[in-house]
Amino acid sequence: MSKQSGSLSINSENIFPIIKKWLYSDHDIFYRELISNACDAITKLKKLEIMGEYQFPDDYKAKVTVELDPEAKTAVVTDNGIGMTFEEVDEYINQIAFSGAQDFLEKYKDKTNEDQIIGHFGLGFYSAFMVADRVTIDTLSYKEGATAVHWESDGGTEYEMTDSDKKEVGTSITLYFNEDSVEFANEYRAREVLEKYCSFMPTEIYLTVKGKEPEYETIDEADVKDTDTVIEHIVEEAKTEERENENGEKETVEVSPRKEKVKILKRPEPINDTHPLWAKHPNECTEEEYRDFYRKVFHDYKEPLFWIHLNMDYPFNLKGILYFPKINMEYDSIEGVIKLYNNQVFIADNIKEVIPEFLMLLKGVIDCPDLPLNVSRSALQNDGFVKKISDYITKKVADRLSGMCKTDKENYEKYWDDISPFIKFGCLKDEKFDDKMKDYILYKNIDGKYLTLSECLEENKEKHENTIFYVTDEKEQSQYINMFRQEGIDAVLLPHNIDTPFISHTEQKNENLHFVRIDADLTDSFKETVDDSEAEQIKTYTEDLTKAFRDALNMEKLEVKVEKLKNASVASMITVSEEGRRMQDMMKMYGMDASLFGGANEGQTLVLNASHPLVQYLTSHKDSEQAPVICQQLYDLAQLSHGTLTPERMTEFIRRSNDIMMMMTDK
Ligand code: ADP
Repeated sequence: MSKQSGSLSINSENIFPIIKKWLYSDHDIFYRELISNACDAITKLKKLEIMGEYQFPDDYKAKVTVELDPEAKTAVVTDNGIGMTFEEVDEYINQIAFSGAQDFLEKYKDKTNEDQIIGHFGLGFYSAFMVADRVTIDTLSYKEGATAVHWESDGGTEYEMTDSDKKEVGTSITLYFNEDSVEFANEYRAREVLEKYCSFMPTEIYLTVKGKEPEYETIDEADVKDTDTVIEHIVEEAKTEERENENGEKETVEVSPRKEKVKILKRPEPINDTHPLWAKHPNECTEEEYRDFYRKVFHDYKEPLFWIHLNMDYPFNLKGILYFPKINMEYDSIEGVIKLYNNQVFIADNIKEVIPEFLMLLKGVIDCPDLPLNVSRSALQNDGFVKKISDYITKKVADRLSGMCKTDKENYEKYWDDISPFIKFGCLKDEKFDDKMKDYILYKNIDGKYLTLSECLEENKEKHENTIFYVTDEKEQSQYINMFRQEGIDAVLLPHNIDTPFISHTEQKNENLHFVRIDADLTDSFKETVDDSEAEQIKTYTEDLTKAFRDALNMEKLEVKVEKLKNASVASMITVSEEGRRMQDMMKMYGMDASLFGGANEGQTLVLNASHPLVQYLTSHKDSEQAPVICQQLYDLAQLSHGTLTPERMTEFIRRSNDIMMMMTDK
């Protein structure tokens, strides 16, 4: 019998307390480390079999089991992989794994916690000591004539190695959880952690719990497999019913046949899917599979709009699926998640060093086995290779979107309203993406037609060159939209928050181009042409009415303009200068108080239509008793058709409207 005991530490008193404190911010990661080691051990054995150096027993089925014993507060992770000999345990566990852990500590002990380490493969085994007071290994190597080895350490710096009575090839690692970590022996907690990290690992993983009541299921006798544990046979006799036939005679009919069933122990189900969809070739995946995968991974029961399957082997290995989720603009903030995997082992969500920021609005999975993960995040940031991966993902997404616009315009238009915030955000964030996408940005006009920027400019070249009128709120700006429609002038809908910065961005990129909101000004197309004497008269009206309105509304600074509009049905309206409004929008976006900069009505002008009888009445009766009421009402109506009134103004408006109606009844 071989026996060895020794000391792991050379320089440090006790390395484990340091590991506990520093190694991982998430203690639950030890399961990932041990189980991915177990999967690796199985992969290695499979390779040996392919090379003819090992032969699996006939009934071999690769699997990893995690057996919990909540009472004893233990977990045993067992694999039927390659196993280790006495010398290998000494080399891999006592020396290499330990020095890996030590190297790591040397490097990172001065770093702050913020500088999280993404994945520290290479010292995985020792992560067990974050949660366990005592860890044992029982392992039998696949090599002929190997004897089984038992290794144990109590989290100090000493270890002990002796013979083990393990019979099957493979490794079992037993953790005796410390008081702070007993939760990991609890079935629900353990399942949660396994689902988080191991859902797509390449070997089937089973979770069992000692002392748990067995569960049963009943199946047809014909479906029983050799591996099932049969508890009892159940015969369901055929069921019959008396029925009347067409001739009114009674008849016995069989409603269900005789069935032979079997009660069996519930078949164990692996917690993971060993062939995740992303690893398959896109040609082999069905639409239904993509949708199922989305529901399962993201627990989102809204259907995704569409997806992009990334699949490349050269110059680096990268696979993944990115979904464009359906968003409900009014209520949802856009919050995506991109899960990063390394060879089917989950690393973390939303690692911004690898995934371009704007793509984190999507939902997806990326598996990149080539990622250098045993480095810190800040090192990743400066890694040229990581930058290439990130650029590649961006390029693929842009290619797919522009390709769709070119070859499947109908669908692209159908999705546009939903995907445009992602794309615009991407253009703002990423110059290369912007370059690739700029010709595929669509503008939906007030007639529901989708146009690219150049189509928009081309179509409106004659009426308003280099100017694009836009609507931010169809309801609030409906009066203006009607006027535009009547004059045959086009405007596009830009309703999303992202449109404000996107408009500025597009103007910067296109010299001479101006975006003007539909309520910003009245172009000449809306006005009647007036001769000199009419112009003179309008000037006088303007002076008179400005005074009348300022007095009636008690607004000294109110800007009033009188115009002769073609649309005779409009008496008054509000315009807001584009510049002033953009300033206000910006302030709103940054949560600043607009009233500090001239108030909510800054940049507004009250436009009165000289062709309207009410306005005409005012010009000739400006000193009458009713004049102030008409002024107030016209102003409120203009504000209403431009949006809403403040609560105080609204109350006042309703009261005044009632008064006006009372006048109609002569009461
Ligand atoms: P890494 O897995 O990154 O090499 P670990 O500290 O997790 O680092 O493990 C060190 C070494 O111990 C592994 O490389 C492997 O050779 C060996 N080992 C760990 N777990 C197992 C196992 N379940 N079966 C066989 N060998 C193992």
